[in-house]
Amino acid sequence: MMIAKVIVDVPAKQTDRTFDYKIPEALEEVIKPGMRVVVPFGPRTIQGFVVELSENSSFAELKEIVEPMDLAPVLNQELLKLGDWLTEQTLSYKISAFQVMLPAALKAKYKKKIRRLAPVESLPTKIQSLFQHDDMILWSEAAGYLSALQKEAAKGTVEVIYEVKERVKKKKLKYVSPLLDKEGLQQAKASLVATAEKQRDLIDHFLDKPEAIELRQIQSLLNISSQTIKSLVKKGILEEKDVEVYRDPFEDRVFAKTAPFPLTNEQENAIAPILATIEEELQKVFLLYGVTGSGKTEIYLQSIQKVLEKGKEAIVLVPEISLTPQMVKRFKGRFGDAVAVLHSGLSSGEKYDEWRRIERKEVKVVVGARSAIFAPFEHLGIIIIDEEHETSYKQEDNPRYHARDVAIERSLYHQCPVILGSATPTLETFARAQKGVYELLTLPKRMNNQSLPSVQIVDMREELRDGNRSMFSRTLIEGLKERLEKKQQIVLFLNKRGHSSFVMCRDCGYVVNCPNCDISLTYHRFNQQMKCHYCGYEAPVPQRCPECNSEHIRYFGTGTQKVEEELGKVLPEARVIRMDVDTTSRKGSHERLLTEFEEGKADILLGTQMIAKGLDFPNITLVGVLSADTMLHLPDFRSSEKTFQLLTQVSGRAGRHELPGEVIIQTYTPEHYSIELASEQNFDRFFEREMMVRKSHQYPPYYYIALITVSHENVAMVASITDKIAKFVQSKLSRESHVLGPVASPISRIKNRYRYQCLIKYKREPELNKTLKTVLEHYQQDIVSKGLQISIDVNPYILM
Ligand code: ADP
Ligand code: ZN
Ligand code: ZN
Repeated sequence: MMIAKVIVDVPAKQTDRTFDYKIPEALEEVIKPGMRVVVPFGPRTIQGFVVELSENSSFAELKEIVEPMDLAPVLNQELLKLGDWLTEQTLSYKISAFQVMLPAALKAKYKKKIRRLAPVESLPTKIQSLFQHDDMILWSEAAGYLSALQKEAAKGTVEVIYEVKERVKKKKLKYVSPLLDKEGLQQAKASLVATAEKQRDLIDHFLDKPEAIELRQIQSLLNISSQTIKSLVKKGILEEKDVEVYRDPFEDRVFAKTAPFPLTNEQENAIAPILATIEEELQKVFLLYGVTGSGKTEIYLQSIQKVLEKGKEAIVLVPEISLTPQMVKRFKGRFGDAVAVLHSGLSSGEKYDEWRRIERKEVKVVVGARSAIFAPFEHLGIIIIDEEHETSYKQEDNPRYHARDVAIERSLYHQCPVILGSATPTLETFARAQKGVYELLTLPKRMNNQSLPSVQIVDMREELRDGNRSMFSRTLIEGLKERLEKKQQIVLFLNKRGHSSFVMCRDCGYVVNCPNCDISLTYHRFNQQMKCHYCGYEAPVPQRCPECNSEHIRYFGTGTQKVEEELGKVLPEARVIRMDVDTTSRKGSHERLLTEFEEGKADILLGTQMIAKGLDFPNITLVGVLSADTMLHLPDFRSSEKTFQLLTQVSGRAGRHELPGEVIIQTYTPEHYSIELASEQNFDRFFEREMMVRKSHQYPPYYYIALITVSHENVAMVASITDKIAKFVQSKLSRESHVLGPVASPISRIKNRYRYQCLIKYKREPELNKTLKTVLEHYQQDIVSKGLQISIDVNPYILM
């Protein structure tokens, strides 16, 4: 008797283990690990993943698997193992770990069909009758034939099609190809009547190029009618066929083929160790550290080239917002159709198409956002993570994985290099590179020695002193007017994220910080109190600034809409495009707005952090940052780091072309090191300064952190449970570790659920995950019956 061990699709603690099912005899050959199956579960039938086959079970009464859901496994051995690892690392359910690795189309409701890809006659007699009337049959019609069909699927003569309800209709085009060989074509040509000139042209074409060609294309190429083609089809000389084309989001664009550049000396030095590890098939993590424009992408491209030459595959991760046509063009231009692009703008049908192209080994390179890290390649030769500091590489739902960790785990399996690229690496990564855990590769200067834009810091306190109460400094207004006159373009950048605001003195820039945690206190309007969201410290808003005694001390924050209104008043003639979550929520609107700006339909692009990168337009000569402080004083120990990264990024937007660029940064705290050093683009000094802060306040990379967030509609219950959890965790940890809180989360209520958190800081706690699991298990009953939520984020990036 064969047994399948199945992880069922019920994301809950009690079901987070394998269940044994008997494999019906008829399916014994069919069921394989990594396949999805339908199984009875209580009164229902549900989906599950087969993770293992076995010959015996410790349970006596076993139910039978109803049927498989796929003809081939959707997860290979490596990905099954990766699922185990993800579960351990992120404390998620196994079913969530498996599902996150698959395209959404496989999770959705769909109709499943089997389609024949080869002539009926060439199929085994047993299944020929299935396809007698149609080349497509319903999955339900295939019962009893699955084993035979599976063998065919492995040969590529049949395939399973998932029809996702939305729009998974395959796009098809008519293609024409010759049915005869060269000799046959020649004979056919000779037998044509003298007047059939067009038909002869057509045959000549195929004598020259026997491959199939799209109907419309050959019609226009030879200037012939569809009638001409039809008549040769009737004579059995040519064949007309519908061919499925993938919905390629960039299909309308033609990518000119690019050749590798001869590398500069700096690039040669940086790429050599990478090429060596590819050659020797060694696992290694590199940090490729170089400013924007220093030639990192060219190194990625040439490393991938080497990987392809070895017959292996490559994954390139880029942040969602940099996944622009410009970016894609560089990869498709070099590697053509071997490249698949995965990004969130694709419909789930389109994503599924790209995933299938990977599975069928039609592509060798995947360029995509975070989830592309799970591309089902079997011979990975390199993984590249560009802009490795981007927080979008961390998934904020279960399983809360970081793509960098997954990349390193996969590289261990495949014994291949990982390249992390950035001009402003995370402190964690740079510290590892300095310790030699990662190998540091540096590109010290921009290509062509292009100079960095000049950066001016404007002190907004002085503006106020001189009577300017507006949100635009005089310097910025001048700059704007000058560009409008010269018909050059401007990017105005406003950072507004999160929901909290801090209290600041507009006269001297003083911000009220927590005495214990060195993060800014968050202002609460309802009781006029300020509060620390790490440790719970609380204080009333001071009437006067403790630094300079000014009365201009209050909470701070402005939105993009407000700025747009103000701009309208000061510069009514300026044409403004506003880009924020409100104007870009519709699919494709992000790109449309950018294109409008590129085409010169606006003078000013105003937006939030989503405009900080990817923009590379020659006519942008001024970048203005309205308030560098809003991000500096987020209640987050990474706020200095994020400010530095963002300002460096933004500055990189100006003057990348012939026109010189200028950057104006407005701030109330011009002396803050992250603003000062970002204006000099001095990462090394910033790293030193910030490491000192992290060390003295016990933050990463000196300590690890984990965040527990508890939420429920009843605030008293949330507070008391969080308190119990904090005490329990503390009792299990070593002396070196600290548990901060419980304290209300910075966003203290979402959808009427109150939120409390506690933050764990630790250096070495081998038992931590076990302890945290115990917490989840202990409250399991309340989670199920009382709607309590407990989320645990190991290495969180968002502390809200
Ligand atoms: P980064 O990825 O660090 O921003 P890129 O690889 O995009 O840098 O390089 C910046 C510019 O220099 C690009 O336009 C690129 O085509 C060009 N470039 C890169 N390497 C070379 C080279 N070896 N020779 C000439 N041009 C190069
Ligand atoms: Zn003051
Ligand atoms: Zn504190």
